[in-house]
Amino acid sequence: MEQPVAPPIDPAIRDLIARMPKAELHLHLDGSLRPATALQLARQRRLDRGMDRAAMRRALTAPMPCVDQAQLLAAFELPIALLQDAEALERVTHELVEDVATDGTRYVEIRWAPSLHVRRGLSLREGIAAVVAGARSGSQATGVVARLIAVALRTLDPDDEAVMARTAADFLGDGLTGFDCAGREAEAPDPTRFAAAFAIARDAGLGITVHAGEWGGAAQVWRALDIEPTRIAHGAPAADDPALMAQLRTRGVTLDLCPTSNVQASIVGSLAAHPLARLHRAGVPVTLSTDDRTVSDLTLTREYEHAVEPIGLSPAELWAMDRHALEVAFLQHDEQLRADLLAGFDTFAADEPLLRP
Ligand SMILES: [Zn+2]
Repeated sequence: MEQPVAPPIDPAIRDLIARMPKAELHLHLDGSLRPATALQLARQRRLDRGMDRAAMRRALTAPMPCVDQAQLLAAFELPIALLQDAEALERVTHELVEDVATDGTRYVEIRWAPSLHVRRGLSLREGIAAVVAGARSGSQATGVVARLIAVALRTLDPDDEAVMARTAADFLGDGLTGFDCAGREAEAPDPTRFAAAFAIARDAGLGITVHAGEWGGAAQVWRALDIEPTRIAHGAPAADDPALMAQLRTRGVTLDLCPTSNVQASIVGSLAAHPLARLHRAGVPVTLSTDDRTVSDLTLTREYEHAVEPIGLSPAELWAMDRHALEVAFLQHDEQLRADLLAGFDTFAADEPLLRP
C-alpha cells in the first residue's frame, strides 16, 4: 500500500502521544492479523498458495484508497478463510491484545462476526469460546483490559444472527459485553432487519452499537438510530447534517471514528478533510480507533498522531476523546473497573500540562 506522507508533528507532542494511555473501542479481529502468523496458519492449513511473507502482507492490506467499502471488505476474505478453527482464533486474539499493548492501550474492545467462522465444522459456541480464551490470555500476558463485541453480518440471515446473539450473550460473564451489526451497507442498508438479534442482545445486557455511514451518507446514520444504540461505529457523515448532530448530542450517542479507514473506504477525500475535529467541537461524543491494524497498515499511536496532524486536534482535545472512550466502554457490568481505569488516566494527565483544556 502506498503510504501518505506524514506531515511533521511537534516532537514533544509525538512523545506525549507515545506515552499516553489509550482506549480503543473499534477494532476488528479479522482485519488485524500479523502477516507472519497469517502465513504460518495458511501453510499449516494448505491455504498459502505459495505466498511468502511479503505476498501475505499485500494480501492482508487493502489498497489506499479503495474504490468503495466493498473493495475494503474484500481484504477480509483470506483472514476469514484462515480463522476456521479454535486454535487459530485463540492465537490471533491473544496476539492482537499483545499488539495493542505496544500502543500503550490499557483498554480495548475487539469485535468479530462469529457466524463467519463456522465453515469447517466449528460450532458458534466453540468459536466464541476460542476468542474469549485468546482475549483472556492476552490480557493476562499484558495487563490490557479486553472486552469483546459480537458482530451480526448485514448480509447474513437475520434468524441465524438471532441464534448467534443468543449464543454470544451466554459469554457476557466472560468478557463478551457488546453487540454490533456490520458488513456491506450498499447491499443490505437496513440494520432493523436484525431487530430480533439486537433485542436478544440488549435484553441479555450486552451494549449496543451499529456500523453506519461507510456508504449512503447521513441517511445511514439516521437509520442506525432506529436500533437505539449507545454507540455507532463510524457515522462520520453525520457532520454534514446539523439535525443529526443534534440528535446524537441529545441522545448521547458516541461515534467511534476511524479516519484512516474512512479515507481508505473513500468516504472522505483525505485525513485533513475528516470531520473528527468538527464533530468533537460541535459537541458530538466521539472516540478514535484504527478499525483494522493490518488491512489499513496502521497503529493506534499513528492514528493519534494523524488526529493532531493533519486533522488539527489539540493534545487536550485528543485526550478528551481518549478518556471519553472509557466513559462509554462496554463495561456496564463492571463499573468499579471503569472507575479504576479512569483514575489511572486522570493520574497520567495530572502531570501533563499539554493535556489541560
Ligand atoms: Zn468497523
